[in-house]
Amino acid sequence: MRRISIFGATGSIGESTFDLLMRQGGPEAFHTVALTGGRNIKRLAEMARALRAEIAVTAYEDCYADLVEALGGSGIAVAAGPAALIEAAHRPADWVMSAIVGAAGLAPGFAALSQGRTLALANKESLVTAGPLLLGEARAHGATILPVDSEHSAIFQGLVGEDMAAVERIIITASGGAFRDWPMEKLAAATVAQASSHPNWDMGQRITIDSASMFNKALEVIEAKEFFAIAPERIEVVVHPQSIVHALVGFNDGGLMAHMGVPDMRHAIGYALNWPTRHKLPVERLDLAKIGQLDFRAPDPLRYPALRLAREVMEIGGMAGAAFNAAKETALDQFIAGRIGFLDMAGLVEDVLTDMSARQGLGNAAMSLDNVLHTDTEARRLALALCDQKRI
Ligand code: NAD
Ligand code: MG
Repeated sequence: MRRISIFGATGSIGESTFDLLMRQGGPEAFHTVALTGGRNIKRLAEMARALRAEIAVTAYEDCYADLVEALGGSGIAVAAGPAALIEAAHRPADWVMSAIVGAAGLAPGFAALSQGRTLALANKESLVTAGPLLLGEARAHGATILPVDSEHSAIFQGLVGEDMAAVERIIITASGGAFRDWPMEKLAAATVAQASSHPNWDMGQRITIDSASMFNKALEVIEAKEFFAIAPERIEVVVHPQSIVHALVGFNDGGLMAHMGVPDMRHAIGYALNWPTRHKLPVERLDLAKIGQLDFRAPDPLRYPALRLAREVMEIGGMAGAAFNAAKETALDQFIAGRIGFLDMAGLVEDVLTDMSARQGLGNAAMSLDNVLHTDTEARRLALALCDQKRI
């Protein structure tokens, strides 16, 4: 029986993964090693019981007692805290879903690679902050990383049987998020509630807001550069409001291979779960005649400064991804807390990048897990300090 674990089981990607596992036989077909979550203890316990997990882990120590109580009599082991997450990642498993949100997903995913099995990677922040480290660890242990981000799964599928030398470019589509058609002058006053609803995809709150600001697309461009080892200038972004074409691969003969499907993450998750084979998946089938029309347009650089920042990050290299992501996470926290406006997020991230690359030469730093985490902490501290200064 295949041994599986889900990190971030109670989130949007985690729930979709759980749904697929249950549909493909649940505990009769999979041996579940570890399921992890945050404060939604009730749901974590339900999932652990349904899949008969070996261990359930909450990221928060103050939730430990509740989890023990919720799993009483089940025989399922319980643990809490960041160190427990890493320990759980060291438990032997054949397929591990990395679906924690944010840089917090890096260390558990990194630990899981040491087993030399398969890491299904939804946590794009891992590649943005520490791409070379993660890929090096996978190589060193003979582990496989499969992309779960829909665009990267689409590219990955477009590359099956192809020679990377024949790839001219990669085109990532972007829905444009919640504010795609808003007049620019209204954006400064956009609220958290308005930014938290996505026109096409049903996702966690953080990635939904990141879609409205295109920080999500900025992360994805960097993720694509790292994962597919492709030069930044060969990666393009096009706004495609319908989210039907997920990405395209352009070859040196001028041919473009597009991946299409309804916006349902269970396609990309199911592809990674069943790779290298395909399995029937419960996603709606496309009716192209009913859709009628697909639209594409160039992203407006003034509306989406995050895309320009992603280019700068790739130019600097080294620790710039870690600083960028941490500043972005902090800016997002501050926006959600109502302390800065929607448009202030990009300004804050840019200030952190400029300051840290001037003072610390982000591009030259050697990449280690410690260094990445240190840069992450430093960027968060600086972002908060800049935020406080601005308010005075
Ligand atoms: P989510 O917020 O719905 O769920 C996040 C999960 O991580 C939850 O289980 C939560 O309890 C856990 N978590 C949160 N903070 C944690 C911490 N500090 N330590 C440990 N666990 C923590 O997020 P999501 O939308 O499912 O996204 C998960 C990851 O997948 C993100 O990296 C996101 O960018 C990526 N992704 C998501 C989608 C999507 O459709 N939701 C699509 C592509 C990529
Ligand atoms: Mg995506």
